[in-house]
Amino acid sequence: MTVTPAHLRDLAGRAEALTAEVLALCDRAAQPEPEPLTTARHAATRLARGAEDLHRAATDLVRLQVQPCGLPWGVCPEHGNTLSSKAGVTTCRVCERTWDHDRLGRPCEEPVTWKVIDRAGTETRMCDGHVFGARAAAAGATFVRLDDNGA
Ligand SMILES: [Zn+2]
Ligand SMILES: [Zn+2]
Repeated sequence: MTVTPAHLRDLAGRAEALTAEVLALCDRAAQPEPEPLTTARHAATRLARGAEDLHRAATDLVRLQVQPCGLPWGVCPEHGNTLSSKAGVTTCRVCERTWDHDRLGRPCEEPVTWKVIDRAGTETRMCDGHVFGARAAAAGATFVRLDDNGA
C-alpha cells in the first residue's frame, strides 16, 4: 500500500488523544500523587513527542511527493502570467513581488495543484499560477483541482 501524509497525520492525532487521556487520568488521582503516576506523566511526554515526530514525517512526505509544475516559463503563484524580467530580476506587475533571478525564463517550480484536460482530451498538470493563464487561453477545457494526495 501507499503511505500517504493523511495516514501519518491520523496516527499523530491518535497519539495526541492518548497523551491527553493519560494526563487526564493522572489529574484524577488523589493528592499527593502516587509515585508511579510520575512515570505515567513521563510516558505522556514521550507520546506527545511521538505525535510531533509523526506530524514532521507527514510534512516531509508531502514535500517529497510534491511534483513541480514544470511548464517552461515561470508565473506569479498568485497572479499567473504577470511577470516581467529585467536584468536578472523578475517582478509581478500586479503584486510587485520580486524574485532575484529570471523566473520568467526558467521552468516553473511551483507545486502541481491542478489537472487541466483540453477539448482534445490531453491532460496537463500545472500549478495555481499557470491555471490562471490556462483558464484565459483554453476555451472548453476542464479544470480539476487535485487533493493533498495528488490523486
Ligand atoms: Zn503577483
Ligand atoms: Zn506552473
